[in-house]
Amino acid sequence: MGRRVLVTGGAGYIGSHTLVALQEAGFEAVVIDSLCNSSEVALQRVQAISGKPIRFYRGDIRNRKLLGQIFTENAIHAVIHFAGLKAVGESSQKPIDYYQSNVSGSLVLLEAMQAFGVKQLVFSSSATVYGSEAPVPYVETLQTGRTSNPYGTSKWMVEQVLRDAAAANPELSVALLRYFNPVGAHPSGLIGEDPQGIPNNLLPYIAQVAVGKRNELSIFGDDYPTPDGTCLRDYLHVVDLAIGHVRALEWLADKSGAEAFNLGTGRGTSVLEIVRAFEQASGVTVPYRLSPRRAGDLPAFWADASKAKCELGWVANLGLEQMMADTWRWQSKNPHGYGAVATNK
Ligand code: NAD
Ligand code: UDP
Repeated sequence: MGRRVLVTGGAGYIGSHTLVALQEAGFEAVVIDSLCNSSEVALQRVQAISGKPIRFYRGDIRNRKLLGQIFTENAIHAVIHFAGLKAVGESSQKPIDYYQSNVSGSLVLLEAMQAFGVKQLVFSSSATVYGSEAPVPYVETLQTGRTSNPYGTSKWMVEQVLRDAAAANPELSVALLRYFNPVGAHPSGLIGEDPQGIPNNLLPYIAQVAVGKRNELSIFGDDYPTPDGTCLRDYLHVVDLAIGHVRALEWLADKSGAEAFNLGTGRGTSVLEIVRAFEQASGVTVPYRLSPRRAGDLPAFWADASKAKCELGWVANLGLEQMMADTWRWQSKNPHGYGAVATNK
């Protein structure tokens, strides 16, 4: 198996953790990232953790010329494709930007892979492709679609494109990784999630309250049909998720076709349970207010992660305590994220 991997969006939250996992597994990483939602500092920190170099190209995945240059200058054998826009709410306000970056970007990348004979692809998909009607736990054989925002629809569309491309070309092998709710940070505290502006996601918001950047958490709804009335999600440690990408790459080596895998723990945790677990791990009280439901939130979903276990040999090993402790270590060591030294913020 070749060892050089192109990682699109490698400076981002999941991408940076995956770079560490790739390097630990003996892969060489080449990164393309526009830095539209990240900082080059993340890549410097990854290199500090691994002690190994990363070749970085700053630019957009829709830039055909740049992709051609990257594939010409590096003997790439596989691509892990993270690059894209990910804010669910914003996607309803800027749908064209989301389809441009996520769908057109993936098409340009696929064309370049085809032109340069690169045949293995790991794609960042999401549990959101199961839509609003799917029964829990989500299992890969469920019908997908009925997505309720352009972000989710863009992920669903790219999944369909990749299935069609793999059906037409038996040499192509694709892993569609459907992430549940990644949280946490590398245990070094050097890399982590660094959202721009007000965080949309629960853990970054809690962490910013804990560090004093925000006054209190709003818990969106306590009248859901769940044990404590707050929503249930399947939170998984980003380091486990990163390792899932390495397993997927290894799995792709002798496969053809496109296969979807859920990456989650298989357990649902409520918002209130998360707040309590975070307080316990950090020793910091997180003030919160019970607020109205957030539009579009589903009451509860979690993964059936047995396919990833059987076929990829992957399970999420790190528990809630570790997820919270690592989130807190990252946030308290870097209260402004990569901010003070970031090049793009
Ligand atoms: P992120 O925003 O931290 O990382 C995405 C990276 O891609 C950023 O570094 C950004 O600068 C870069 N980028 C965006 N558009 C680009 C473009 N057109 N060309 C080049 N670079 C571009 O997000 P993340 O949380 O690391 O997510 C990575 C992937 O996983 C995304 O595709 C996201 O949709 C998907 N995903 C994330 C979650 C989650 O909860 N974080 C859940 C499910 C799926
Ligand atoms: N949530 C919340 N307050 C916040 C952010 C999120 O109560 O400030 C809740 C949200 O309603 C959901 C859960 O936390 O039930 C996870 O939300 P997140 O946006 O992190 O993930 P997603 O909804 O995309 O699964």
